[in-house]
Amino acid sequence: MADRELGLLSVVAPVHNEQGSLVEFHRRVTGALEGLEFELVLVNDGSTDHSAEVLERLAADDPRVRVLHLTRNFGHQPALTAGLDHAAGDAVVMLDADLQDPPEVILEMLEKWRSGVDVVYAVRTDRDGESFFKIKTASLFYKLFDRLASVPLRHNSGDFRLLDRAALDALLSMRETSRFLRGMTIWIGYTQASVAYHRQARFAGETKFTPQRMLRFSIDALSSFSNRPLQLATLFGFVISSIAFLAIPVVIILKITGNYLYGFSTVEITMLLLGGIQLLTIGVIGEYIGRIFDEVKGRPLYLVQQRPRRSGDPVSDGEEHGEDAQ
Ligand code: UDP
Ligand code: MG
Repeated sequence: MADRELGLLSVVAPVHNEQGSLVEFHRRVTGALEGLEFELVLVNDGSTDHSAEVLERLAADDPRVRVLHLTRNFGHQPALTAGLDHAAGDAVVMLDADLQDPPEVILEMLEKWRSGVDVVYAVRTDRDGESFFKIKTASLFYKLFDRLASVPLRHNSGDFRLLDRAALDALLSMRETSRFLRGMTIWIGYTQASVAYHRQARFAGETKFTPQRMLRFSIDALSSFSNRPLQLATLFGFVISSIAFLAIPVVIILKITGNYLYGFSTVEITMLLLGGIQLLTIGVIGEYIGRIFDEVKGRPLYLVQQRPRRSGDPVSDGEEHGEDAQ
């Protein structure tokens, strides 16, 4: 098969309070992609620092830079989706704006794309500047995801990946609210391959993912790719009620033989156990119902603002919501 020809490459990055990294990010990306026809789509996800101004300045100085301002902070995955929706390239790369994903790796990804691979994801061989806690919990998450979910997610692959236009259109046809893009890019199929890279430390600023946010994100990921927790609830119920049924003849025999004990503690333990399991399973069901509710509302995943917000603007200034909203 003849190699693919690249017309335009889109590089998409979500930005939330990255004022310290943006200029360097732009320099590294343009440096790495020297000589290629590309656009850099930067999505300002409701930054409250000076990111908006820095982005506007970059866009004014470099016609390849396109900036989208969302009307508030919608979160990493919706912001990334906004950028992907607005990307025009034949191939599209998504990466973080904090320089943890080195832009130089894009060239390797492009090589694979040229030889016919539709989805090229980057796998981290090692990670700098990330806490022991983050690395451990991430590894635990991937193990759990493997057991429960229906898509084979590569361990240590983040959102840093390249998609061919056809694969991107397939991905963007999925408008679900609970978004786990790295699972969705695998779910779509197409030919997939990986490249290895070394995850760097952040160039500036701090991670926006607190442990609570990571937990939310993991529950989103699991519930959008697996119904197993719901089935486990059924299994729990089945096992516990079988035990209860078995207990009936046991109690009768004890009564007949005169060995019946007033097992106050047993009753207490059973009650707590059953109550706990019931609350847990209701909680699991609740997680899914909450997501059904979110999906049914069918709200746009993000809203684009026509006029960029300045860092000094009041948070809610009656801004007209962009026609652009998807
Ligand atoms: N980000 C975003 N919206 C958010 C949180 C993060 O657009 O609500 C961006 C952030 O600016 C960065 C990328 O998403 O470019 C990854 O975020 P971060 O570096 O905080 O996550 P980590 O790399 O620590 O997982
Ligand atoms: Mg980061």
